[in-house]
Amino acid sequence: MTQRMYQPELESMSRDEITDLQMRRLRDMVRYARDNNDLFRRRFQKAGVEPEDIRIPADIMRLPIMDKENLRLAYPDGFRCVDMSTIREMHMSSGSTGSPIVMLYNASDLQQWAECMARCYVMAGCDAGDPVQITPSFGLFNGGFGMYHGAREAGLFVIPTGAGNTARQIKLAKDFCTRILTGVVSYGIRVLEELQKGKEELPKLTIGIFGAETFSESMKKTLEDGLGLEAFNIYGMTETGGVGTLGQDCPDHSGIHIWEDHYIVEVLDRETREPLPDGEEGEIYITALTRQALPVIRFRTGDLAHVVSRDRCACGRTHIRVSPITGRVDDMLIIKGINFFPSQVEQALMEIPGIYPNYQIIIEEIKGVKDVRINVEAEPTITGFTVEKHLKERLGFSPKGDVFPPGSLPRQEGKAVRVFHKKGDS
Ligand code: ADP
Ligand code: ZN
Repeated sequence: MTQRMYQPELESMSRDEITDLQMRRLRDMVRYARDNNDLFRRRFQKAGVEPEDIRIPADIMRLPIMDKENLRLAYPDGFRCVDMSTIREMHMSSGSTGSPIVMLYNASDLQQWAECMARCYVMAGCDAGDPVQITPSFGLFNGGFGMYHGAREAGLFVIPTGAGNTARQIKLAKDFCTRILTGVVSYGIRVLEELQKGKEELPKLTIGIFGAETFSESMKKTLEDGLGLEAFNIYGMTETGGVGTLGQDCPDHSGIHIWEDHYIVEVLDRETREPLPDGEEGEIYITALTRQALPVIRFRTGDLAHVVSRDRCACGRTHIRVSPITGRVDDMLIIKGINFFPSQVEQALMEIPGIYPNYQIIIEEIKGVKDVRINVEAEPTITGFTVEKHLKERLGFSPKGDVFPPGSLPRQEGKAVRVFHKKGDS
């Protein structure tokens, strides 16, 4: 059974059509970037690659890689390919992994963003006129505006609450019958906590679109059960043009569909940068095929995932499916020789009944030796011993830590900060 799609002819192209379109667009993009930007021109020259060299999918390997450092060095707009007078909007990354990165949009880029985002809304089951509450901030962070541009495109009723003031968010959701809640994953939890505190419910809420942070299965279940909605995992980043530009999972929940008419996704080995077979976890690299103001070509995202399938999905879409992001390369923690990601700690913690979905991972470095302390919020029945025992079983080491009453650990506006680094001499 195929699902309603926003752009059915584009979302359900055959695999051959997708490949042909990608090759044509990639060639055009290389030519466009070379002809409109000196940095791109020099990079291609150095790699000895011409647009005509791009014929088959493997030819993408001939193009040089771009990383966050390249973009930072080019701050604010070294990779810009259009005249500044045609720029209509800008956004900036939250800087969660270093200094921020700027994205610029011309009119065509804004339309591309709106269409990708509208596809995500329709894929989640949103219909024209549905009230959508947009809880990311409306500012430099791309989340609020991206959800707004897409909601306009999909004809939804926009409730632009922006970030914070959770009690008012709930009042507005009730008064205006919010059907779709959008936000960063951890903000969904905030809404849930506030509802539980007031013993309230939002019966009209049926769809949750969450992203910007790793989204463990257990966190998803907590949100779905607690808020009484179906949760969707939306993916995007400043460098690709913002939230929803890359894609989202469909009602089949068998991976995140990446909009392949607009982007090429590569999953490469973290060390060798060789392509990995589907199913093997590696680092995601993205090439934008249709963005004009500041396109990225073979951009190293730092995000880790694997390809789930390139076949037609039960929803009818043919675009590639990748797994939920397990973490970022630079998130990986190594404590006493054991490697782990914060998302693994989250998954393990949430398996313990009575633990609340707000926690801190504190990395303490004493005389060059790193140790980890994990603070959690939990019901009074949960002891530090229970937590330690479970983490030992699941992660292979026993962190120290304390158990706090629900609501007592600090919370952030925007993306949650889970990992804290402390240095001490004693
Ligand atoms: P920053 O890098 O400063 O956080 P962005 O706001 O552009 O800037 O965030 C993009 C990053 O957020 C992605 O590279 C990814 O690590 C993370 N992210 C976005 N969506 C998701 C998602 N659905 N699941 C996991 N991580 C996500
Ligand atoms: Zn699907």
